[in-house]
Amino acid sequence: MLDAVVVGSGPNGLAAAVTLARAGLSVRVYEKGATIGGGARTAELTLPGFHHDVCSAVHPMAYASPFFQRFRLHERIEFAIPPLSYAHPLDGARAGRAWIDLQRTADELGADGEAWRSLFLPLLERTEDVSDFVSRSMLTIPRHPITLARFGLRVLEQGSPAWNLRWKTAEAPAMLTGVFAHTIRPLPGLAPAAAGLVLALYAHAGGWPIPIGGSQAIVDALAADAVAHRAEIVTDHEISSLAELPRARAVILDTSAAGLQQIAGDRLPPAYARWLDRFHFGQAVAKVDFALSGPVPWAASDLAKTATLHLAGTRADIARSERQVARGRHPDDPYVLVSQPSQFDATRAPTGKHVLWAYTHVPRGSTLDRTEAITRQIERFAPGFRDLIIASSARTAVDLDNYNPNYVGGDIAAGDVNLRQLIARPVPSPDPWRTPVPGLYLCSASTPPGPGVHGLGGWRAALSALRHEFGYTKSPDLGPDNRK
Ligand SMILES: Cc1cc2nc3c(=O)[nH]c(=O)nc-3n(C[C@H](O)[C@H](O)[C@H](O)COP(=O)(O)OP(=O)(O)OC[C@H]3O[C@@H](n4cnc5c(N)ncnc54)[C@H](O)[C@@H]3O)c2cc1C
Repeated sequence: MLDAVVVGSGPNGLAAAVTLARAGLSVRVYEKGATIGGGARTAELTLPGFHHDVCSAVHPMAYASPFFQRFRLHERIEFAIPPLSYAHPLDGARAGRAWIDLQRTADELGADGEAWRSLFLPLLERTEDVSDFVSRSMLTIPRHPITLARFGLRVLEQGSPAWNLRWKTAEAPAMLTGVFAHTIRPLPGLAPAAAGLVLALYAHAGGWPIPIGGSQAIVDALAADAVAHRAEIVTDHEISSLAELPRARAVILDTSAAGLQQIAGDRLPPAYARWLDRFHFGQAVAKVDFALSGPVPWAASDLAKTATLHLAGTRADIARSERQVARGRHPDDPYVLVSQPSQFDATRAPTGKHVLWAYTHVPRGSTLDRTEAITRQIERFAPGFRDLIIASSARTAVDLDNYNPNYVGGDIAAGDVNLRQLIARPVPSPDPWRTPVPGLYLCSASTPPGPGVHGLGGWRAALSALRHEFGYTKSPDLGPDNRK
């Protein structure tokens, strides 16, 4: 009999496997795909020699994650940390720029500089407290109530119709809205402001890094550690029911909440199953990867100094386009998230060539290829972009669902990031990773803290299993020195 089985080898599944293996337990991971990694795989999607991040690309959450800090990810793989965390081009060759350096950002924002500084400085002094809060269920007693109060006041302001009162220019509110829009929600809103302010804070703390070699480097480091501690990883093996699993004291599912329902079936008590029935999946993403003959010719200055850009225009433009997506439409002028990793990582493309990663928001279940809409939006802020395209590879929302069942209908967050589901993800509990079925846990982005490559769901689920099934009270040492 095994001690533990993990279903799914995304960052959360592997974080769970590492935590359990480091406690000395026997662990087996089953992965549906031919390779490990879930939303953190890197592959030659267009042409040989062009390495594209299939899903996640930019890693402020991995960098700030209390799990990855214990794992000492930054000592195991190399990160490039662009000096400009993210940029937000506007028409007329203008742009908002979020430098890691908060003061430089404020200085460049001119009339809005002090408003930006006062929004972030009190939180920046307490970034670790914010990361700690994010890594737990929202239904636990806050450990840093003053930081939480400061954070909460900012969320109330930037998540409400009062969100424009602070600003005088177009740049600062556009920059923030570009980050809030990561949640794929109508704006303004409390959940987008909460998730977005954390990401925007990290821009001025550790930055928005990219791993050298691509996101795959993160999951490869996790898998290598798990295997070095005698975990087994079985690929090409989909699990559709608990009955298919070998006997184990703990089973941890890195599946969506819908996957949990399917796999556990009538083993779930009716009251818990009703919560899962109410768990709602959000709107979706359509993605395009480009192979380029040269760097993107951004019209505004300094934009080659970032890996991440938000394209759509002003705050009002983004809010309008996100509203259209929420109503089931494909906007003509969509919000586009861009990553240009080969500006900082020579391993991604042949010399002189580049890869570009881009996605836009679409209604859940969309089958529309958005290559042309994305290309047009990039061309708007970088005239001549179209002429650089050597090859491209598109994935619709439905393609993303087929690629990874956790992305239900193309919802890359594995569950809508609304206020209710920030609190009840997927159920309201101080330990939402533990299900009522003895020994069964859920660890995916359908649990706190939700989407992102942070490994926190996996770590928390494994800690809960260690406590309840094996009598451990502390996290095992996860650092590289402990390698056996
Ligand atoms: C296009 C896109 C862009 C993104 N960009 C970013 C970004 O830049 N930064 C960031 O931090 N996050 C980003 N994300 C989100 C991030 O990738 C996910 O939130 C994260 O990967 C979730 O990790 P996870 O371990 O919960 O699940 P996943 O990474 O989704 O992994 C789940 C794994 O479980 C496997 N699986 C599922 N069901 C079964 C089954 N029944 N049997 C066996 N195996 C199964 C799947 O095949 C998959 O490998 C992005 C996601 C997408 C899709």
